[in-house]
Order: sequence, then structure tokens, then C-alpha cells
Amino acid sequence: MPWGSASQEDPLRAGLRFTCQSGCTNCCQVQGFVYLSEQDLVNAARHTGMSKRAFEARYVYRTRNFLRLRKPRGSQCHFLNEQGCAIHPAKPTQCRLFPFWPELVESRKEWNLTAKHCPGIGQGPLIQIGSALETASEMRQAYPAIYEE
Ligand code: SF4
Ligand code: SF4
Repeated sequence: MPWGSASQEDPLRAGLRFTCQSGCTNCCQVQGFVYLSEQDLVNAARHTGMSKRAFEARYVYRTRNFLRLRKPRGSQCHFLNEQGCAIHPAKPTQCRLFPFWPELVESRKEWNLTAKHCPGIGQGPLIQIGSALETASEMRQAYPAIYEE
């Protein structure tokens, strides 16, 4: 059971447990897109030693409202390798904050579903929901076009 407690209390109110598990890359392999803020783009380009322009041309798809990483053929992400994330210290906001995304921490059902592929959920110290929501708010700030009502 992902909540690590037999309490009848609503686990979102009681708090969440999460510790990322060493060697796991499950969340990098889930079908979906990796979005970037403008600052994520700058950070990732700097980390790879490329100019922002060159990094964007090679790895990023830009529309009027958002930036996302291009997907290589047969993989979810260019930066996923056998050692993990090749840009770990500069990975995009959504990767850094997972699983503390608004749509997950605000819904017990979604949090439980996510626990099926994230073995870190239910592990480690208790994190108060207020703290989790504060972390999740960074997602809204990083991706306003995605989270605007
Ligand atoms: S799926 Fe969960 S435990 Fe695995 S790398 Fe992602 S956040 Fe960490
Ligand atoms: S950027 Fe890194 S953390 Fe994010 S999906 Fe790609 S490999 Fe995973």
C-alpha cells in the first residue's frame, strides 16, 4: 500500500511519503512529454556545454505557448541512458519535482495510480501536504500555459 499506513484518515491530509529510489528511471520511461521553462532551457544548454540556440535546435520543440524536449526514435528522452539522466543536475522542472505535480498531490486517486510505476511513493519520511503543495506550485510557475485554468 503506497501510503505506508493503515490509518483511516485521508492520507493526503495526513501527509505523503516519498523518497526517489536509487537506480530507478521509471518516470523517464512513462509515455508523455517533458516540458521546459525558459530557465530549464538555459540550464540544460549550459550543462551540456552547448549554446542555448544550438541546444534548442537539436533537442527542443517550441510552440507559441510551450517548449518540450523532442523525442528520439524508440525512447522517451534523449538524455536517458544506462546511468540515468545525462543532465541530472540541470534536468527540467517537471523531472526535478516529480511526483509533486499539482495534479498528483491534489488527488489521492492520481497519487495512488502514480505509485504503481513510482516505487519511491510510500517510502521515506512523512511530507506534510502543505509542503507538497508548495513544491507543486513551482510547477504552475514554470508552466503557466499548461496549468492556466
Ligand atoms: S519513478 Fe519514482 S522512484 Fe523511480 S526515478 Fe522516478 S521519482 Fe524516483
Ligand atoms: S530529462 Fe532526464 S529526468 Fe527528464 S525524462 Fe529525460 S532522462 Fe528523465
